[in-house]
Amino acid sequence: MPSSHPYSCLQLPTDAPFELRSSVGKGWGVFATRRIARGALILREDPLFIIRKHPAHIIEEDVWRAFQQLLPDQKQQFLLLRDNSVKPFTSMNAACAENSFSLRTPGESKKSKAPAQGLFLLHSRFNHSCLPNAKIPIVEGESIESFAVRDILPGEEITICYEPDFECQTRLERHEVLRFTCDCEVCQPGTLFQQLSDSRRRLIRGLEYLTQGKDLDRQRRDSSSPLIIDPALKRAAETFDISVSSRLIYRLLSVVLLYDEGLLDDIMLQRLWPGISRLAGAFGSEENAVIAQLALEQDTWVKKLEVAFKLFGRRDPVDGAFAKILRLKRGI
Ligand SMILES: [Zn+2]
Repeated sequence: MPSSHPYSCLQLPTDAPFELRSSVGKGWGVFATRRIARGALILREDPLFIIRKHPAHIIEEDVWRAFQQLLPDQKQQFLLLRDNSVKPFTSMNAACAENSFSLRTPGESKKSKAPAQGLFLLHSRFNHSCLPNAKIPIVEGESIESFAVRDILPGEEITICYEPDFECQTRLERHEVLRFTCDCEVCQPGTLFQQLSDSRRRLIRGLEYLTQGKDLDRQRRDSSSPLIIDPALKRAAETFDISVSSRLIYRLLSVVLLYDEGLLDDIMLQRLWPGISRLAGAFGSEENAVIAQLALEQDTWVKKLEVAFKLFGRRDPVDGAFAKILRLKRGI
């Protein structure tokens, strides 16, 4: 692709550890220009503009109004955007939809969501992978940040996962959501790694069902292929009658599967660890509590799981109260 491509005129921060250039089969992408250590910040970016609406409700006039309030230099940057790097967008709304991220604006609570979409010129250039080397954690605020989830080498393409919950979806399910055929390493058909990946992600989804009492995949709630085949177990999950021992084992098993899949990054661990730690500290029986604590003290996830399996089938005095609290929270 010629260097006169409009994306070569997008302004990068002076200390950016990456460059924009063509990526085989994907238009343009973002490539590391130096080693980026796991956990390091890749880019902090302010939006060009924010539209405080649900993405499905944004119309052409909304984008025009936001565009007209930009400075001349910012307008020029927006007009550099291309449809998958090939040609200009045919509408302002399409350009906005393809280059924006949902934001959690300050003050937003879980009950009163105020949807907002921010247009990000550079973060929109990151291509997708189902096994990404970078992540944009969900934060409250108007700017977004991306971090390396493993060491990234110079010349390596920097990728993010476009959808939440892909860790519990198979290749085919992911491609239906993406509406394109991803060719990342876990999407290469016919490989053992790909088959293992599908099994692991399906298992993670089943374990989520057992602990959450519902399917995490909102689009497949009424799937004809049930996740939990045993009706008694399914019912127990939906009424939260899963013992604390089983909950701890399911959580640790999920973490081991995520680790094997290459998805257990520090950001995900920060999200999962408080729940695991709370579960281990919840036992009413001293004997159960000792096993749970011993499990968490092990130095690998597999060892933690091995020790936690000693709790398998054990009930605990807090099981009833635990289920009651969860039922109250869910309103059942
Ligand atoms: Zn993929």
